[in-house]
Amino acid sequence: MSERLPEDELTYYTGDACISCTSCMSNCPVMEATQDYDGPKLVAPAHGRMHFSEEDIERSLELCSNCKTCDRSCPNGVSVSTLNLLQKGVYYRTHKHPMRDLMISRPEPLAKLITGLPMGASLANMGIKVANSLGMLSMMGLAGKRTMPAYTNKTFLSRMKSIKQPKSDKKIVFYVGCSINYNTPEIGEAFVKVMNHNGYEVLVDPAFVCCGSPLIVTGYLDAARKNVDTNVDRLLYWKQEGIPVVSCCTSCSYALRKEYEELYGEKQMKEAGSNVYDAFEFLEMLDAKGQLKTDFKEESIRFMYHQPCHLKSAGIGTPAAQVLKHVPGVAVELADAGCCGICGNYGYRKERYDVSMKVGEQLFKRILLSQPDSVICDCPTCRQQIEHGTHKEAIHPIMVLARNYKYE
Ligand code: SF4
Ligand code: SF4
Repeated sequence: MSERLPEDELTYYTGDACISCTSCMSNCPVMEATQDYDGPKLVAPAHGRMHFSEEDIERSLELCSNCKTCDRSCPNGVSVSTLNLLQKGVYYRTHKHPMRDLMISRPEPLAKLITGLPMGASLANMGIKVANSLGMLSMMGLAGKRTMPAYTNKTFLSRMKSIKQPKSDKKIVFYVGCSINYNTPEIGEAFVKVMNHNGYEVLVDPAFVCCGSPLIVTGYLDAARKNVDTNVDRLLYWKQEGIPVVSCCTSCSYALRKEYEELYGEKQMKEAGSNVYDAFEFLEMLDAKGQLKTDFKEESIRFMYHQPCHLKSAGIGTPAAQVLKHVPGVAVELADAGCCGICGNYGYRKERYDVSMKVGEQLFKRILLSQPDSVICDCPTCRQQIEHGTHKEAIHPIMVLARNYKYE
């Protein structure tokens, strides 16, 4: 039987702590982008307390992107985004989702099926392109103006089997996540290379499943519980073994370390989350202990770093930008231009495409004005949005470390 977090820790997530200061309203990027959104204060704390009709709640709730800017701007610690997600979950217990939501909320089973078939990824990638050019994605409720992430023919977990790592007493468990496993396995390979170079052996645990974030943001809170429980069990196991769990995706790591606990309020979720680290947070910790290898080749390049919203909410600063300072010739400028607007599957919904692009405008302008050689960012969907909005390459910062270390 799972134990609830103590009441005083849960009040943090209720609307009763709201003092109606409207700080969340003036900081919400969606509210700035569209007049259709009633805004965080009215939608979450006020509706939560006043029990308006379901229609009122739903109309505006769907516009919340879960960027969590409101939470960070609230002087009284109200987790407005959590209240929104909880209300959405309640709404969808009695209301039907559009068919499209089934697909965008469950990337893992679909990717598993596609990449498990011979030539499945190539055929699916081609099929998606053709379907898009015929307007079929748009008919399905997807943002047809976007390029969908391509599947890989060889997943990271299958590549991992042939990576020869030096044995070490220092170990970490890599939480791979759907995007790296099925779309960008090269990021996972780069991470293993970097950790091996720093004396760590990287373990993977195939029992981990999708973090559940796509289900959570689409309003399938009950369905997400299965993913949450599986992952919490595995996190607790690794915590007991004394081996940290590290992720290269800031949305996965935020879900594992904080969002489960915020949404479901159970003690074991908080305990499980305390053993989760973001990749660059872990590397920065090694650096602080004087244990980070800094034998880098010089590369003359200028990056702009975009800090993902979920990394901001984790409250750990900009570890990637700090660690990259060790690479000679590499200059990193912080974009500091707010939310990119895509917010997981939000910007992939046809009806949210315009709002999503409007929210990202400030960041796009900042990048285009500065004209860096490349953009770096630790979140896969932020990178897709940046490439879509600026036509500039956006890469994971681990790629920069991996290509600049001097290997024997
Ligand atoms: S999570 Fe983002 S979009 Fe939603 S209410 Fe908060 S600031 Fe606005
Ligand atoms: S910022 Fe916090 S206290 Fe102020 S209105 Fe929003 S939820 Fe209420």
